[in-house]
Amino acid sequence: MVWRRRLMTAEGSDHASTGAATRSPATAPSSSQVGEARAVASAAPHFPIRTDWTVDEVRNVYHQPLGNLVLQAALAHRAYFPPEQVQRCTLLSIKTGGCPETCTYCSQSSAYKTGVRAEPLLPLETVLEQARRARDRGSTRFCMGAAWRGVSQVGPRQFQRVLEMVQQVRALGMEVCATLGLLTAEQARALKAAGLTAYNHNLDTSRAFYPQIVSTRTYDDRLETLRVVRDAGIHVCCGGILGLGESPDDRIALLHTLATLQQHPESVPVNALVPNRGTPLEHQQPVPVWELCRTIATARVLMPASMVRLSAGRVSLRPAEQMLCFVAGANSIFTGDKLLTTPNNDRDTDEVMFAAFGLQGKPPFAMGDAARTHAAASHGAEVATSG
Ligand code: SF4
Repeated sequence: MVWRRRLMTAEGSDHASTGAATRSPATAPSSSQVGEARAVASAAPHFPIRTDWTVDEVRNVYHQPLGNLVLQAALAHRAYFPPEQVQRCTLLSIKTGGCPETCTYCSQSSAYKTGVRAEPLLPLETVLEQARRARDRGSTRFCMGAAWRGVSQVGPRQFQRVLEMVQQVRALGMEVCATLGLLTAEQARALKAAGLTAYNHNLDTSRAFYPQIVSTRTYDDRLETLRVVRDAGIHVCCGGILGLGESPDDRIALLHTLATLQQHPESVPVNALVPNRGTPLEHQQPVPVWELCRTIATARVLMPASMVRLSAGRVSLRPAEQMLCFVAGANSIFTGDKLLTTPNNDRDTDEVMFAAFGLQGKPPFAMGDAARTHAAASHGAEVATSG
């Protein structure tokens, strides 16, 4: 593992030059020692973009002592992104409820009695009003979710209305993401032509555990939609949900699948289940924050140039717990009253947190492409030096 070797080299040179390995922890470092430590930090170890991770390598990353893992993730984060930048995104449900799919965590599935009623597609003006409001409050990415099995389920007229929404939200200067279920290649190309930045389609969990979570579509259906999205030139947003009853090996398998796609998803949402009343998972125990943090950090190490999004479940985290996730490499949050149908963090509390932690919002389109360029350059350099 090249990144690990380099990290160890960086740590070794720090110790050798400062004598830190033999110094009493109570001894304050001299100014030259601090300078050298800063130099090591600024010459951040090189984290190449790799899509050839083995399951054992992912397992080794995931199961490290948490402090070591968070440190590595923090360094990987700094190699590709300004670590103080955290993107604010807003997610709006443009078509709520009545979904024919059976996702056992979802309040919008018509298979369960959750109290969420089926509603029609929102009017364009309502969506634009919400998008403008989100933009004015600092969001630079606007995500629109429809509770559909897929676009083919609803036909061309409704899809045309969604394309119009994409076009007009994009014209507001925001990144635009959509999550509309399964897509054909033709539908993906139409979304690209309308200006869609990214398409969200989560794998949710491991291939082995997936049939226990969804019975109406397969893992391969999901992967096929990811493929047509990628082929259309749209950024891929794909992650998972913790707390579904999966094992650590399921999390490792999910991360392995994501990190060995032909190209990493540009965006990796990490969700913690918010149990919904009436769903089969309503009594699931909450995911401990250190498990959420461990998953975020592993995602950051495996896919260092991707946006890692601290998504659903943030509402139950204290600010210090959120900070742990940011240190571990999360660089995006969702703002707004709701995440589709689940509650989300209060805006004022988020603003206080940003100010207290010295966080800054990420401008639209600013870092994704730069990180990608950096990643490509780094990858080239790695190939050159190792070849
Ligand atoms: S997660 Fe999406 S596809 Fe699954 S039931 Fe909910 S709205 Fe439908």
